[in-house]
Amino acid sequence: MVELKTDTSIEAMHAAGRVVGQALTAVRKAAAVGVSLLELDEVAREVLRAAGASSPFLGYRPSFAPTPFPAVICASVNDAIVHGIPDRYRLRDGDLVSIDCGAVLDGWAGDSAISFTVGRARPADLRLIETAERALAAGIEAAVVGNRIGDIAHAVGTVCRAAGYGIPDGFGGHGIGRRMHEDPPVPNEGRPGRGLRLRHGMALAIEPMLIAGGTDGYYEAPDGWTLRTTDGSRAAHAEHTVAVTEAGPRILTER
Ligand code: MG
Ligand code: MG
Repeated sequence: MVELKTDTSIEAMHAAGRVVGQALTAVRKAAAVGVSLLELDEVAREVLRAAGASSPFLGYRPSFAPTPFPAVICASVNDAIVHGIPDRYRLRDGDLVSIDCGAVLDGWAGDSAISFTVGRARPADLRLIETAERALAAGIEAAVVGNRIGDIAHAVGTVCRAAGYGIPDGFGGHGIGRRMHEDPPVPNEGRPGRGLRLRHGMALAIEPMLIAGGTDGYYEAPDGWTLRTTDGSRAAHAEHTVAVTEAGPRILTER
């Protein structure tokens, strides 16, 4: 069931979303060659703590997961697409890092992700990241009252495919509200004019995930969480929590 949020609830979600934006900004600033993923997790924890927010990631255990998630960010490096567990790995020159973060404030959730490079960037990585951001922007632009979920999916997928990138099947965006994952699913590829019609008060996390090699394959790492590209190529991820409103799409996790 898709819950429509009141304007007051959207304001509350915006407050939670701002905390997520702050955490991602702080993590990105702290990320440098030699810094560990656990240290980045600590940076995000501190932002959440200072804001009085809790983490919807910490302890999260969906049906596919063998263990509760142990951190407040997902940190996915190079061929890791999403759901990477922060560990002692220290960032190296030229790494491509995807950070996903959530926050719950006053009972409302926000969810957002960014990809960036550390040290000397490979041009191919910059193009991949730029395309992920462009796919996200296209998806957000399609998140207007009267459109359908398929219009968002089509907008996202078209940008990714036109650039020659792969899209991991079975993972994508979602409704969000008091819980991080709500109905409806928001796929990263789809047919325009199909699916649920968008209405004022829907809150959606839109999140393109791109595979540089152009194939769609991924596998689950032995930790049971991390998704890696089958072809070994690099991946990027971009996500915002967005409210569908009569005044147009509104980003709730701005940075
Ligand atoms: Mg996320
Ligand atoms: Mg999400």
